[in-house]
Amino acid sequence: MHTPILESSIEYLKGVGPTRANLLKTEMGVVKFGDLIYKFPFRYVDKSLVQKIKDLHGDGNPVQIEGILVSLELITGNNRKRLVGLFKDDSGFIELIWFQRVKILEQTLKVGSEYVLYGKLNVYKGKKTIPHPEMELAEKAKESIKGDFDPVYYSSEKLTSRGLDAKGIRRIMVSLFEKISKTDVPENLPTYILTSLKLMGKYEAIKEMHFPTNKSLLEDAQKRLKFEELFFMQMRLLQIKKNRQKNLKGHIFEYVGEHFNTFYKEKLPFELTGAQKRVIKEIRFDLGSGIHMNRLVQGDVGSGKTMVALMCILLAIDNGFQTCMMAPTEILARQHYDSIMEYVKGMNINVAFLSGTVKGKKRAALLQSLEQGEIDILIGTHALIEDPVVFKNLALAIIDEQHRFGVVQRAKLWRKNESLPPHILVMTATPIPRTLAMTLYGDLDVSLIDEMPPGRKDVKTTHFTESRRAHVLQFMHHEIAKGRQIYVVFPLIDESETLDLQNLNAGYEQLLQYFPPGQFNISVLHGKMKPKDKDFEMERFVAGKTHIMVATTVIEVGVNVPNASVMIIENSERFGLSQLHQLRGRVGRGADQSYCILMTSYKVSKEAKERIHTMVRTNNGFEIAEADMQLRGAGNIEGVQQSGYMDFNLANLANDGPILLAARHIAEKILNEDMTLAMPKNELLRREMVALHRKHKSYNRIS
Ligand code: ADP
Ligand code: MG
Repeated sequence: MHTPILESSIEYLKGVGPTRANLLKTEMGVVKFGDLIYKFPFRYVDKSLVQKIKDLHGDGNPVQIEGILVSLELITGNNRKRLVGLFKDDSGFIELIWFQRVKILEQTLKVGSEYVLYGKLNVYKGKKTIPHPEMELAEKAKESIKGDFDPVYYSSEKLTSRGLDAKGIRRIMVSLFEKISKTDVPENLPTYILTSLKLMGKYEAIKEMHFPTNKSLLEDAQKRLKFEELFFMQMRLLQIKKNRQKNLKGHIFEYVGEHFNTFYKEKLPFELTGAQKRVIKEIRFDLGSGIHMNRLVQGDVGSGKTMVALMCILLAIDNGFQTCMMAPTEILARQHYDSIMEYVKGMNINVAFLSGTVKGKKRAALLQSLEQGEIDILIGTHALIEDPVVFKNLALAIIDEQHRFGVVQRAKLWRKNESLPPHILVMTATPIPRTLAMTLYGDLDVSLIDEMPPGRKDVKTTHFTESRRAHVLQFMHHEIAKGRQIYVVFPLIDESETLDLQNLNAGYEQLLQYFPPGQFNISVLHGKMKPKDKDFEMERFVAGKTHIMVATTVIEVGVNVPNASVMIIENSERFGLSQLHQLRGRVGRGADQSYCILMTSYKVSKEAKERIHTMVRTNNGFEIAEADMQLRGAGNIEGVQQSGYMDFNLANLANDGPILLAARHIAEKILNEDMTLAMPKNELLRREMVALHRKHKSYNRIS
């Protein structure tokens, strides 16, 4: 049988051969013709944009000018050999300079001729030069330019050494497209999608990327290819979700019974917010439906996720089921245990705590009563998912602060009930932008708690440099005098743990001078301490016995001390946005006005400045998450890399939100109408999905 041309080995492409083929494979992952067509230019040079010499400012962008080479001189003094040229257009003169290939250039460049010059401007002590410009005779340049945009390809040192620099890649791209035609690159989107969204055909789009006609067609091509990537990813995610909903039965929570009602009527210490009510309703609907629930609750720090979890737990108990709640750290798990114990006091509900610290007879007894169904709620750390932990009838598993747990751990929870997996409720206080959520959690149902309990005041955030230290110390005294407590947080980054510890200790020493023992108490908490000591220090602070908590980021997640009203973050330029936001979330949990003070040195990077400005500007976690994504790119947001859903060639979640929304919308519509893609009009989609499924087998069954 005749093999499709895209399957041909790249070695056989004109201008490649075995050596370059090897390099293309190792440097770019290109093995076949079909791989090369997807190696798109990483940028384009706008040929229509010719600048004037007098307007050049050296802003780092490439420049293009048109003019006459006035003179050329080879200088061979005691210095390095160099070739110096003078170039002029109708606005002025500029110096050109070459250090390499000077002999050849001296012979080939023609003084007095008109050139199009391309390069980067260098400004040194006010003097402007262009080192190593690319020169093309104006006549020729005009001939070779078909469109306004010239593609620039990725290359590498090794590729360049074998003649495959950016231009060399361009040359083999030309030979490639001489060989292939429209029939070789089959369309994978049905016509009805192409027409309704006005999308370019696949082959046309790919060709346009390499040989752009003009700016607007190039943008159409990019849109088409980005859509394709995002659309098929959404199709995969939604198919997984719909399959689960169709095939995976869930425990049915039929009754709203005594526990739920008693608590709601008699014990609930406050009125639920509208958002809490809505989310509880969404969860109740799932739990009553007979379908397996796999739901993510996103809510900013302090939005009241614990109460939502508790209401669901009560519902489970009313229906005779066990529940568990897992937190990423001992401190957090303890806190959940304490607050839930407090809430259900006097209600004849059996709550137990399990972590690595529960050992021996106590542990054995706990495990036994768990297996016999005497424990209603088990709260703890990841110790919960270990094999010896056996439930009688676990029907709801709640995971707090999910970004700390891996997919594997979630999968283990699924297996804690052999007859039917428990419903899964994941709670995260790390808001992520909507586009990211759709990708990262596209196969989960998502609930949003987008409202804060009433009376909560926004935390006032200020940025200070070291020169205001005295002022900050004074402010601390002032707040402590009002009966408040204060966090002082130091960065902790793995590589320089010792150094950070020194910083923390130095900071502690300094504080001791201003807050002398006897009058004031200071807690210290860091990762190098024994768990027992950590708990001790934490408990002292929680109980209000210490005024100041000097800590590393171990306090980042979830700790709740409503009386703490000041968060001082030292070296705040070293923290990421989501971390800063988490830390700030530790205050503002009571009724008092709270403050967050971001300390930095004088000199901070542009990005760090941007992060700090964002923090000062807003308290809204979703806005901060969006800013974080814009600053760092979607690929660098925590949890994204491991997801396996983010290997886009062109699409970028930070900028392509509208395309993603369109893709998600149409994918949903198609699957609602034709879940198995059996309709003739969806034949192309069915085939593509089968191919994708084969390629991505490993990701498919994950909560
Ligand atoms: P998070 O979402 O960060 O886990 P918590 O569940 O710890 O938030 O709640 C933060 C604080 O807000 C707790 O002290 C809790 O008692 C309180 N809280 C929760 N819901 C409400 C509400 N509807 N009205 C008033 N206070 C609430
Ligand atoms: Mg919480």
